[in-house]
Amino acid sequence: MNITDFTKTPVNEIYGMNSFGDAVMRERLPKSIYNELKLVQKGSNRLSSEVAEVVANAMKDWALERGATHYTHWFQPLTGLTAEKHDSFISPTEDGRVIMEFSGKELMQGEPDASSFPSGGLRATFEARGYTAWDTASPAFLKEDNSGGVTLCIPTAFISYTGEALDMKVPLLRSMEAINKQALRVLKILGMNVEQVITSVGPEQEYFLVDKKFYDKRPDLMLTGRTVIGSKPSKGQEMDDHYFGAIKSRASGFMSELNMELWKLGIAAKTQHNEVAPNQFEIAPIFDSSNVATDRNQLLMETLKKVAARHDLVALLHEKPFAGVNGSGKHNNWSISTDTGINLLEPGDDPIKNAHFILFLVAIIKAVDKYAPLLRMSAANAGNDHRLGANEAPPAIISIFLGDQLTQILESLSGGKKYTNGDIETIELGVSTIPKLPKDLTDRNRTSPFAFTGNKFEFRMVPSSMSIANPNTILNTAVADILSEFADRLEKSSNPKESMKELVAETYNKHKRVVYNGNNYSNEWLKEAESRGLANITNTVDAYTEMEKDYSVELFSRHSVLTKTELESRCEIHLESYSQQINIEASIMIELTKKQVFPAAGRYINQLSDTITGLKVSGVNNETGFMKMLGKVSENADNLYNNIIKLEELLLTAQTIDSNPLEQANAYRKVVFAQMANVREASDTLETLVPCDMWPIPTYLDLLFRL
Ligand code: ADP
Ligand code: MG
Repeated sequence: MNITDFTKTPVNEIYGMNSFGDAVMRERLPKSIYNELKLVQKGSNRLSSEVAEVVANAMKDWALERGATHYTHWFQPLTGLTAEKHDSFISPTEDGRVIMEFSGKELMQGEPDASSFPSGGLRATFEARGYTAWDTASPAFLKEDNSGGVTLCIPTAFISYTGEALDMKVPLLRSMEAINKQALRVLKILGMNVEQVITSVGPEQEYFLVDKKFYDKRPDLMLTGRTVIGSKPSKGQEMDDHYFGAIKSRASGFMSELNMELWKLGIAAKTQHNEVAPNQFEIAPIFDSSNVATDRNQLLMETLKKVAARHDLVALLHEKPFAGVNGSGKHNNWSISTDTGINLLEPGDDPIKNAHFILFLVAIIKAVDKYAPLLRMSAANAGNDHRLGANEAPPAIISIFLGDQLTQILESLSGGKKYTNGDIETIELGVSTIPKLPKDLTDRNRTSPFAFTGNKFEFRMVPSSMSIANPNTILNTAVADILSEFADRLEKSSNPKESMKELVAETYNKHKRVVYNGNNYSNEWLKEAESRGLANITNTVDAYTEMEKDYSVELFSRHSVLTKTELESRCEIHLESYSQQINIEASIMIELTKKQVFPAAGRYINQLSDTITGLKVSGVNNETGFMKMLGKVSENADNLYNNIIKLEELLLTAQTIDSNPLEQANAYRKVVFAQMANVREASDTLETLVPCDMWPIPTYLDLLFRL
């Protein structure tokens, strides 16, 4: 089936057709192999070459039936993108023909040349070998290109010859293992008979759509994903119904095709129009386990771009494509559940099940408070610096929203005011019932960076363009760390039930400073947070350096998620990519303003001079308005010129600091980035003066309203 005939096929037949998921495996694998693979996925067994051989063969047959000619190990290097190296299935025979082959070994392990991926000094070029290893728990899938080519993609983790993580996936998988291990210890004390604990994630993805014909004339969008200049259209234009109507029909055509493409991959997507900014949309798939959700979010971002291109649109994933207009983020909905189907973050209404909810809840509160700077770091990138704390996205300060009811329950449990809501007078851990919290009670606050929303936490700081691997790695590891402290203490106790009560009270009282149910955008909160001693890391460069600090190294080593060397290399890679990002942005800004905006101002100045001369020659003598405009334009052009020259000089200086990544990143942030604001201001002022037909590039009006 190709991409054109899906409209006539029922969705249930399309759904998952390109995913080698559980249903396909059960159907195609011998029962014993299927069961064996399930144990491998659960982490209880190691993958044997016999099992791999049978799975590889079934996978190949399935892929060939659907027109695949190639396979690839699909991985996520530290570029933040995905990478693939295609091999064909063909194997020549002696009589000059080919047969299609795919072995268990080829499924299990690949060996792409690692030298062109960032490793932050982990791997010298002479030992450029990197290995990809199959992530058995994430379904293989088929990727179709626009001309009908089909490739079997095998989700993998990417490691160096000496075993260091070179990608986003390895630490995530390790963190899932860590939280599984520690959560099982705690659940065992609670008498819960569970074999595995899994973290789940449902990422809500925001994006903008712009018309490709305008995009193609904006080199800044093409190279950096954001507009480095552009004056905001007036409010009246924003409200224009005509443009709005046009957006809807074109975007909805795009969305139905997008849904189909995602459904084919087994990604359960629902789409909705986002009202916040013009041409901005959101898509939210149903949640999966963290590693699968991470793979699928990468795939979703890729599919967004691919399908947009078919509609002559461009999907912008940047956190802040347009200054002055709301930016994009990703809401990382996160929960922990057991293999027996219990969501540990579900308050529920069965008394016996309450203890685990409360215990995990306070563990999360402590983890978020203790490791707030690392969570902040996990949401840092150059794009998000335009958002966090900028009155539209969560502030840069990490706090937790629990809602009044849950806060009261915790207060009551911790020796504070008795809980008197509804029919419950007192709450005693493990004895009384915690009422089911209605969604509207838990989901009111939209300004909180980390909000409890009924049966999950929503981490709302995550940048729209970035992989969710890192935020979830940090979240899992931080919570695993506190659970291990809890387990240590409770395992030693002669009266675990009593100790648990003490632990809850003590933990909550010590860490409730991170709980804030008010408006996170307000200035009061800024002051309040400061008095509570909460960190306010305002920028990406400072956030990255948290990674290398002792407490971070200790945390990640303790749970075998990342070693000191791996953390240092990651910090270096992130700092370098930050510098590169600002370098490209500044360069394209110079290019655009010097070669397009400044000359446009010159042409307008000429036109005005001609007009003034004409008026004088004809003896009309009312040229004052034109004279004033001429003065204004030339003054602003002058200002623009001076600021461009200054930016050029500062950029050159920053480029030469290349021996120290931190120093360089700081130079880009404090000096180059700061000067870019001046160039922008000058250019945007000129845009308000120069006639529309003389303005050389598409405007915000074109990009945001003409679709
Ligand atoms: P919202 O009110 O923010 O739209 P939804 O209930 O629609 O919230 O969920 C948004 C996202 O959260 C979806 O991707 C959904 O699958 C995911 N989600 C729902 N329950 C869970 C859970 N238990 N764990 C992780 N993600 C979840
Ligand atoms: Mg949400």
